[in-house]
Amino acid sequence: MEIGGHVPTKGGLDKALDFGLAIGAEVIQTHPSPPQQWRSLVLDDAAVDNFRARVEATGLRRHFFHAVYLVNLATRDETLLKRSIGSLASYLRLAGRLGVDGVIFHPGSHKGAGFEPMLPQMGSAILQVLERAGDTTAQLIVENSAGQGGCVGCSFDEVGAILDAAGEERVGVCLDTAHAYANGYELSTAEGIDGALRTFDEQIGLDRLVAVHANDSRVALGANVDRHANIGDGHIGREAFGRMLTDSRLRDLPWILEVPGAGQGPDLEQVNLLRELAGLEPAVAAEVATTPV
Ligand SMILES: [Zn+2]
Ligand SMILES: [Zn+2]
Repeated sequence: MEIGGHVPTKGGLDKALDFGLAIGAEVIQTHPSPPQQWRSLVLDDAAVDNFRARVEATGLRRHFFHAVYLVNLATRDETLLKRSIGSLASYLRLAGRLGVDGVIFHPGSHKGAGFEPMLPQMGSAILQVLERAGDTTAQLIVENSAGQGGCVGCSFDEVGAILDAAGEERVGVCLDTAHAYANGYELSTAEGIDGALRTFDEQIGLDRLVAVHANDSRVALGANVDRHANIGDGHIGREAFGRMLTDSRLRDLPWILEVPGAGQGPDLEQVNLLRELAGLEPAVAAEVATTPV
């Protein structure tokens, strides 16, 4: 198990490592480029080597990229689809070069075209991403969405269908607790958690689960809206996170906070709350990482 959170890359990807250390993270998630734009980060080999050396020095154990928000594999717009495939492929290649574990993405929205009709396209788009990424060590990871209108991959059923359509074992899944709750999975109770994980196993397979986005939900069960709350301040609740963190089906995964914190995003307090609920010693904030090599 690793506990950490999404951290900013203001000032460069390097800076994310410092932010990670400052919040006591063992795992970080970053946007290597602004998530509202198609532009992707270009790094030469020297910069890649520097980054890898710094990661080594910080002792951070895991790192995931979050894809840009514009990605949509269920769109009828050819240009948007091509850009989506290109963006994911370039993120995967960059992740591989940097030793980043994977690229987490939201599959998108069919915008009224329907899930089933767009399913074959989603499967083939994923295969194109993998083909274009080539020989990379980084994993492509689908995240369940909150259930806003037309979104695809909101239910576990749909995530499973997308993976099946791609038919590619290398694709993993990230479970966002707030999104699942907003989509009607009752994660606030012991029975609800057990039921949701059983359903996940039936429809996706727990062996495909590679990361958890640990977020409480500001909206009620089944509200179909994406509103993250700090752990313990939402409808899922502290006790339920304690149950999930100690559940053998989830325990060994990286747990990544995407919560508001005190307004600046995941912080040491939220990291340590998860650690406490998991029965771990508190993390200590490291002031500054090592200087670049
Ligand atoms: Zn998420
Ligand atoms: Zn969200």
